[in-house]
Amino acid sequence: MRRILVVGGGYAGFYTAWKLEKKLRREEAEVVVVDPRPYMTYQPFLPEVVAGSVEARHAAVSLRRNLRRTKIVSGMVTGISHADRKVTIRPAQGPDYTMTYDVIAVTAGAVTRTFDVPGVADRAIGMKHVEEAVAIRDRLFTAYDEAAGLEPGPERRKLLTITFVGGGFSGVEGFAELQSLAKSLLKKYPELSESDLAFHLVEATGRILPEVSDKPGEWVVKMLERRGAQVHLNTTMTSAEDGHVVLSDGSEFDSELIVWTAGNAATRLLRNHTDLPHNERGLVQVRADLRIGTDAEVMTDAWAAGDDAAVPDLASSKPGAYTVPNAQNAVRQGKRLAKNLVRSLRGREPKDYVHHSLGAIATLGLGTGIFQYRGIVIKGLLAWLMHRGYHVLAVPTWDRKVRVFSVWLVSFFYGRDIVSLASVQSPREAFETEAKARTLSVSRPG
Ligand SMILES: Cc1cc2nc3c(=O)[nH]c(=O)nc-3n(C[C@H](O)[C@H](O)[C@H](O)COP(=O)(O)OP(=O)(O)OC[C@H]3O[C@@H](n4cnc5c(N)ncnc54)[C@H](O)[C@@H]3O)c2cc1C
Repeated sequence: MRRILVVGGGYAGFYTAWKLEKKLRREEAEVVVVDPRPYMTYQPFLPEVVAGSVEARHAAVSLRRNLRRTKIVSGMVTGISHADRKVTIRPAQGPDYTMTYDVIAVTAGAVTRTFDVPGVADRAIGMKHVEEAVAIRDRLFTAYDEAAGLEPGPERRKLLTITFVGGGFSGVEGFAELQSLAKSLLKKYPELSESDLAFHLVEATGRILPEVSDKPGEWVVKMLERRGAQVHLNTTMTSAEDGHVVLSDGSEFDSELIVWTAGNAATRLLRNHTDLPHNERGLVQVRADLRIGTDAEVMTDAWAAGDDAAVPDLASSKPGAYTVPNAQNAVRQGKRLAKNLVRSLRGREPKDYVHHSLGAIATLGLGTGIFQYRGIVIKGLLAWLMHRGYHVLAVPTWDRKVRVFSVWLVSFFYGRDIVSLASVQSPREAFETEAKARTLSVSRPG
């Protein structure tokens, strides 16, 4: 039986495999998904995981539970040799091994783009994965607990100073959600006041939220500033050593929590370890029908979709434009890829991927959002309700929809959960301390 190997079970990979399961006849081909994570992350929920409005587990969609006819392989693909039709897989345990395939679908997404800013690698955290979102939330709660026990002063100020670098969609959503959570938390911490909090959003260009037009973008900046944030436009971070932030606009401050959301970069796998064609940004070069290659030359049995692929945008009037790396495209490209792959297995021509944007929608903290579709702009509560409505319907599987909705419903009556479980990062600490103390008292009897 032919083997279709899907590299990465995120948005595009999950939908590719899901659709393949529906379309393929039994015995027509075996589908294998390789991913180091056993779940697809519903990234649009991460800002709400940060804010404690969505349970971390509910933003993760299990591959094994939902891809029942697919073989799930836990591991990282570290090399692709399409000429030999084989990949190298690095499992969590044991040595690397190779796996052969007949057809490959590359859907490995992107990684957070970092720059060589001193201190960033040691101090900052990204916001692409569930564990990062949980850690950001827990760090805020822990900072509150610690700050409440301190006298006003630089140490307390540092704990309560939060910096986000990158004013794209995920950065602004995460920033606004965390700011809204931080302000609402003050009610539970009478030792702290609003003047103790400092929120900095640093953006290298002259505007935030590139997906919406200038006016709505300006409205969001003003709204964040009204809530007490400092938005540094046309500014970069030059240093963050030991949490001391230096910005190119001359500002300097200490910040305990630095979240890095300054864009996407191609994975190292695709930049350096494949024989697949890629562009200058490291993205796999695909045709509009999602086969890897160019109009002039097509690679057989090789497909790609999602954030790791440069897909020609046939819906754009700009010549040479590529589709925007977002979930809207990743989902639809995954489905198109599966349909096209099945068509080509059956000797039919694949169809081009064309998608006209449905607009952009963002959550900006409890009760506030923004939506734009061409000239139509909706702000505030209605946009926020639309955001929740859209995403609860869009998250795959009824199981996830119902769980997410139930948490929202419970929070409506009882508020968000504000417990920090930062100690899950070191779960053996209490047990270890007790065991060590006992060993000491036994070795020193009397
Ligand atoms: C915080 C945040 C909020 C967002 N909000 C929105 C939104 O509201 N609307 C919207 O449209 N988009 C949103 N996006 C963007 C959207 O989530 C991404 O565009 C989408 O996830 C891309 O899908 P993908 O399948 O290409 O990549 P991913 O979903 O990132 O999946 C890639 C998968 O590949 C795996 N992988 C990586 N390397 C390897 C390897 N070498 N071997 C095997 N597996 C590998 C990864 O573990 C991962 O599971 C948001 C993104 C973030 C970070």
